[in-house]
Amino acid sequence: MNAKSDVRSPVCQFVDDYIQGCLLDEDRTVANTVDYLKRSHSKTLAPKEVFRLSEAAAFEIMAKLRWPDTYGEPICIYCGCERCYLIKTRRTFKCAGCRRHFSLTSQTALHGMRLQYRDFLAVLALFANNPKGIAALQISRDIDISYKSAFVLLHKIREAIDLNRSNLMLKGEVEIDGSYYGGYIRPSNGGREGKWPSRRRRKKCVLALVQRDGPTVTKVIKSENTTDVLSAAFMHILPGSVIYADEHKSYDALHARYETRRINHRWSYSDGIACTNIVESYNSRLRRAEIGKYHRISERYLSSYASECAYRWDRRRTDNGRVFVELLEIVLSSPANRNWLGYWQKRSD
Ligand SMILES: [Zn+2]
Repeated sequence: MNAKSDVRSPVCQFVDDYIQGCLLDEDRTVANTVDYLKRSHSKTLAPKEVFRLSEAAAFEIMAKLRWPDTYGEPICIYCGCERCYLIKTRRTFKCAGCRRHFSLTSQTALHGMRLQYRDFLAVLALFANNPKGIAALQISRDIDISYKSAFVLLHKIREAIDLNRSNLMLKGEVEIDGSYYGGYIRPSNGGREGKWPSRRRRKKCVLALVQRDGPTVTKVIKSENTTDVLSAAFMHILPGSVIYADEHKSYDALHARYETRRINHRWSYSDGIACTNIVESYNSRLRRAEIGKYHRISERYLSSYASECAYRWDRRRTDNGRVFVELLEIVLSSPANRNWLGYWQKRSD
């Protein structure tokens, strides 16, 4: 590390003042994502810079994103008072108005987190830096935290992403398709024959709606059916859009409301006008994450994994520093999720 970068860090001057103004920058000039990841401008934040941060610097960075209007000066989360005292030994705040205590992460998606702020930023840097996702076991080994902490923390990040994407609207050309995941059955000690339920029945469908050159929305449904497909389209696709779908009969009803173009995969994958290749790419990314990164995805958390993958898909041509800060913003602006508070205390294993 040279002297110049020594001066720049916390974290690389807060990722160059959030890449000078924060308009989302996507590089669509390169032929494919791998080529983009090789370019130097895709690498604006090295995780090693985050590992070197002091706890105070990490605290300051997170405070600036938690309270952007006051440049990191705390605002009481209970009464809105701006006169709060920092209790330095505990890095918590006490409100001068209502006298209540709160921390940097109170009532955010990280509510109840006991990790050091620097360690959390390190987790987030690794999460942002891995284009295909990262497993909790890998995080626990990289940062030297327990597997349980890593598991819950990653799920809190995923839940925040899922919530943040729940109101996205798509327009223009939109591709739609479904694919099936999950259905893992824990092996039992008993004999196998005739006792295992069908894995296929437990699988759930991830319905993906991808706007060409735009965002991706995912919905977890039992299987592709007309009711759920129409409901997802009405909720997330603006009227006047053109929808591309395959020959599955559940998409027939879309013709009544949208201009819909179909491609029959029995004959070809593109006829020059209609294709669903982009949404198939999303499906294959989630499939490879399931097989190669997470090894199994519980149907209970499938929606979170699908949203995480949709976020990664949408940011596949965005530099890692920008993704890091954006994720931190999402996590600190999302409300606390009760499902993940004290998760391991509720479980016997
Ligand atoms: Zn207060």
